[in-house]
Amino acid sequence: MGLSILNDEENAIRDAARALVQKEIAPRSGEFDQKEIYPRANLELLGQQGYLGMIVEPEYGGAGTTYLAQTLVVESIAEVDPATAVIYEVHCSLHIEGIWRFGTDAQKRRWLPSLCRGEAIGAFALSEAEAGSNAAALATRAVRVPGGYRVTGRKMFITSGGEAERYLLFATVDPALKTKGITAFIVEKDAPGLHFGPPLEKLGIRASRTSEVIVDDVFVPDENRLGAEGDGYTIALYLLDGGRIGIAAQGVGIMSAALARSLTYAQERKQFGKPIGSFEGVQWRLANMATDLHAARLMTYEAARHREEGPSQRPLFAMAKLFSSEHAVRHAEDAIQIFGGYGYMREYGVERLLRDAKITEIYEGTSEIMRWVIASQLLKDYDLDNI
Ligand SMILES: Cc1cc2nc3c(=O)[nH]c(=O)nc-3n(C[C@H](O)[C@H](O)[C@H](O)COP(=O)(O)OP(=O)(O)OC[C@H]3O[C@@H](n4cnc5c(N)ncnc54)[C@H](O)[C@@H]3O)c2cc1C
Repeated sequence: MGLSILNDEENAIRDAARALVQKEIAPRSGEFDQKEIYPRANLELLGQQGYLGMIVEPEYGGAGTTYLAQTLVVESIAEVDPATAVIYEVHCSLHIEGIWRFGTDAQKRRWLPSLCRGEAIGAFALSEAEAGSNAAALATRAVRVPGGYRVTGRKMFITSGGEAERYLLFATVDPALKTKGITAFIVEKDAPGLHFGPPLEKLGIRASRTSEVIVDDVFVPDENRLGAEGDGYTIALYLLDGGRIGIAAQGVGIMSAALARSLTYAQERKQFGKPIGSFEGVQWRLANMATDLHAARLMTYEAARHREEGPSQRPLFAMAKLFSSEHAVRHAEDAIQIFGGYGYMREYGVERLLRDAKITEIYEGTSEIMRWVIASQLLKDYDLDNI
């Protein structure tokens, strides 16, 4: 039947993605989480099936779909495997999209086809140990030398760090220029001087490798610079706008899983001689979960439909991420509560929803930063009809 808030084509894309994910990704998802196995096979499969770089035109290896189509795929993956969903999201929204929007024709031809096929995985290296929410304070330095730059610094918490074949990496050519000195580069994994810390041990999305990226006097040729010198900060913020829609979709996927699991359990589990779903206390929780899920979907899909308008819609993207991520955490807690003691046990896989949901409130801009983005716009240009 599909979702009434999507058209037939969008529902068809969502149905196809969900069918693939349920058949191929769901069966090993729990094992990958427990053993912290990086799901490269999932990315390769998604590439083979045409789900990577969906917004990229076919001439560069993509499918030429809408942004919403890609957002629906993130949601579908996150329903069963939020770790694969974030790797997919970083690969598509932050790395591929960066090359697609800001690369030259030669750069697009050189890098996009292998990324769209899943033969190479892309990462996004902006954060540093001392520059997280305030990414503009990054200290990685790029010094001009004949034919390119020598880059030195350390990047923290990089998704797919050590697994990805390529890194969209941000460094400053002159710290005195502040944001106007930040420049974007594509650095290959095998570049001499590029090293990786061990996988960091995490609460959730455990199959997604997160590592430090150590850049030790790495030579980056001119042809690997993305955009002009000093464009990097604008590029990073532009990409994070889209990334936030992706994280909102990740939250929606987790909420959808939490509700589906809760509904089934509420009808099966009996106490006091009746299914627990017959008790008002449980029903109200389910009703609130369904209402919030619908609202989060509307906000996320609306944000995706406005993606092409760029930074002018930044508050809309932030609202979608804020609402979806905070409700994903709450719904994961609700699902555990509905499952009672069984919800707390690993065997049931419901505790994983909470472990995986929490990160959505942190990466690609914390909830506090989302509120800051929204409030800044309200205070600058408050227009009740255009929020
Ligand atoms: C699993 C994981 C994967 C990640 N993947 C990537 C990646 O692929 N690439 C990448 O570049 N980065 C990545 N990150 C980094 C992530 O984007 C940052 O962790 C995030 O932006 C927050 O930065 P921070 O951790 O330094 O926290 P801080 O910025 O130190 O914030 C700490 C606390 O202070 C609050 N705070 C900070 N400033 C303000 C303010 N002005 N007003 C109110 N509150 C404020 C924050 O909201 C937060 O609660 C990842 C992080 C994790 C945990």
